[in-house]
Amino acid sequence: MALYASVILDNPSPEIDRIFDYEIPFELLNTIKAGCRVKVPFGPKNNLAGGYCLDIKNYSDIPEEKIKMIYSVTDKEPLISRDMIELAYWMKEKYFCTLSQCLNVILPAGANLKLKNFSKAVFLNIEKEKANELIKKLDESGKNSSQLKALKYVIENNGCNISDILINAKVSRSPVDTLIKNGILFVGEKQKEHKFDNIAIIDKTDRHNLNEEQKNAVDTVLKSENKKPFLLFGITGSGKTEVYLNIIEEIINEGKQAIVLVPEISLTPLIVGRFKNRFGDKAAVTHSKMSNGERYEVWNKARNGEISIVIGPRSAVFMPFENLGIIIIDEEHESSYISETSPKYSTCQVAQEISKKSGAKLVLGSATPLIDSFLKAQNGEYNLLKLTKRAGNGSLPETEIVDMRRELEEGNRTVFSKRLYYAVKEKLDKGEQIMLFLNRRGYSTFVSCRKCGHVMMCPNCSVSYRYHYKGNFLMCHYCGKKEEVPAVCPQCGSKYIKYFGTGTQKIEDEVKRMFPHARVLRMDFDTVSKKGSHREILNAFAKGEADILIGTQMIAKGHDFPNVTLVGIMAADVSLNIGDYRGSEVTFELITQAAGRAGRSGAKGRVIIQTYQSEHYAVECAARQDYESFYKKECAVRKIMGYPPFSYVYTLLFSGKDENKVNEKITDFGRIVLESKNEFENTDIKINIIGPTEAVVYKVKNEYRMTISVKCSDENILRNFIKKAIEKYNESYKSSAVTVNLYMSARDMF
Ligand code: ADP
Ligand code: ZN
Ligand code: ZN
Repeated sequence: MALYASVILDNPSPEIDRIFDYEIPFELLNTIKAGCRVKVPFGPKNNLAGGYCLDIKNYSDIPEEKIKMIYSVTDKEPLISRDMIELAYWMKEKYFCTLSQCLNVILPAGANLKLKNFSKAVFLNIEKEKANELIKKLDESGKNSSQLKALKYVIENNGCNISDILINAKVSRSPVDTLIKNGILFVGEKQKEHKFDNIAIIDKTDRHNLNEEQKNAVDTVLKSENKKPFLLFGITGSGKTEVYLNIIEEIINEGKQAIVLVPEISLTPLIVGRFKNRFGDKAAVTHSKMSNGERYEVWNKARNGEISIVIGPRSAVFMPFENLGIIIIDEEHESSYISETSPKYSTCQVAQEISKKSGAKLVLGSATPLIDSFLKAQNGEYNLLKLTKRAGNGSLPETEIVDMRRELEEGNRTVFSKRLYYAVKEKLDKGEQIMLFLNRRGYSTFVSCRKCGHVMMCPNCSVSYRYHYKGNFLMCHYCGKKEEVPAVCPQCGSKYIKYFGTGTQKIEDEVKRMFPHARVLRMDFDTVSKKGSHREILNAFAKGEADILIGTQMIAKGHDFPNVTLVGIMAADVSLNIGDYRGSEVTFELITQAAGRAGRSGAKGRVIIQTYQSEHYAVECAARQDYESFYKKECAVRKIMGYPPFSYVYTLLFSGKDENKVNEKITDFGRIVLESKNEFENTDIKINIIGPTEAVVYKVKNEYRMTISVKCSDENILRNFIKKAIEKYNESYKSSAVTVNLYMSARDMF
């Protein structure tokens, strides 16, 4: 009786996002399993296409004369488990994307090597010793000499092509088929070999005796019976990593495994070194600079139980551990936990789903939790754990706010306030290290007055206007209101009104001019684009090869330089004006994290915060490192304005090479949502449509990008509404000549 495979093609196109049935040919019956990748003929020309076998069944609705055959099976063992297949279905629903897109992020990049890297190959399906025994037997019996020849050849040339056997061993096809049928050989696909080099370990940190707060956190997580996620809210340097290490140690002793997620930028040798020190070869690292083959290897080791801990960026959440005990998401507020490509998943949501299914614990750690996460902790959806003191002998730095408007009044037009200038000078004399931090979020996107600090804001939405180079105008990305750029400040009449912008390069030049003897390193997107140079710069600074490190937010997070005693934040408030309701949150986070770099060992640290908006609560609270006060004020604002987490905003991005087409299509989509929204609204629940408008970055890789956002206080209604609108839109664009990508974001970002 024939068996059939349910196959989903590895192709993101929504039109073929459904299951196709194929018959399984006899030589693959032993090989194929649900979860294996396969190659199948597809389309009128029967071109070979890659896909995933999701199920094996003994019936198919397709008539026998029409059904096609599986061409080959790529994997000897299922690549993807039943649980992961279920997770893929969950993601498809949640993030409005195709199943194959979900499978593609769940599987490691190395597993998706293009078809040309594969060739149909024959492998031994039994141990080599067993095969040699069999050869002996065959030899002694004197029968089946052609099977003997074929088997001998495969032993020596494991992974050869069928045609190689036929030619070199001088046998016909039938002995080979018999060996396959008897389970001695197996037909799979050959993959290019990859070398794996380990990443360097630098740090040697010793084990610490935990303080009371740390102990409490470790015990609570380990003992807690309830399934809720934990929010570990601990100030910078409070010993969160130490808590993770201790929890994981216990989890591993129970025979379970752990996933530790960290933002890519803080995947430094330092944090990796601490895990490697504690867990040795049981811990492995993945990161984006590794080749696909290397990442695939880590993934494979997790699957085979050769390792128990994986540390990596968001994609590591999909590590296929057999008995997962815990997922830790460090710096949970980081935006890199939201995928930028489809499926635009939130790592935290996916981790929660995995945790629900597997029973693994989930810990979210941060010094500056997302407003959303802290609200959940307040509501009891999360368990809250606090670390309020710096661990070890470090203490919180002293912070000072410098008002740059006053500096300008006093005739200082440089990027350094007098206070910061003298502080740098003093630290240089003492031989201590300095970090100068330039907040680049929101750089040059808004217009403000350097004299009075006035920022051009939308009167309706209380977010700053975005400056549009093309056309030289200001626009609100919430309501679409446009305004001309004023020639003088509407508040104080000064002509120092301009779009903001100081680059790290300019600061470096000025530092070199003011402090000609200082050794300076600069780290930004320009200087770290080379592979590995990110680490080189940090290592050089850690080794004391420079006095001053200048950088963007890249240097603000996660690093631990004990000799840094001064942190200068050049323009703290720039990110208040990103034209997004999250401006205050982002600013608070960046200042707190940057300040957290100072005074991490014995010496007292000093932080100087330069700002044009010294009275803003985000700047004020961050200077005091007072998250909870900030949280209260911010929540009040969000509530009044109806911004998340008190409402939900979904953003759809349309992009394409033809500017007019993109515009036309998003306008059509806008019409569809406007027309159908009252079907979903009721007296209590309204749907707000924002846009269509140009995306913040309008043109990327020659593609024009426009967005439309939809806001609603009820997430389910919002989801259903959008789902319907997308369906309607797809119907009317079935045979469209230009593709416009439709993206959904899991969070409300433009
Ligand atoms: P976080 O992850 O919260 O920034 P870390 O775990 O990196 O904090 O700890 C900050 C510093 O304090 C590290 O150098 C760490 O080795 C040290 N440390 C952590 N816990 C303790 C402790 N209980 N006693 C002494 N030092 C500690
Ligand atoms: Zn002004
Ligand atoms: Zn507005």
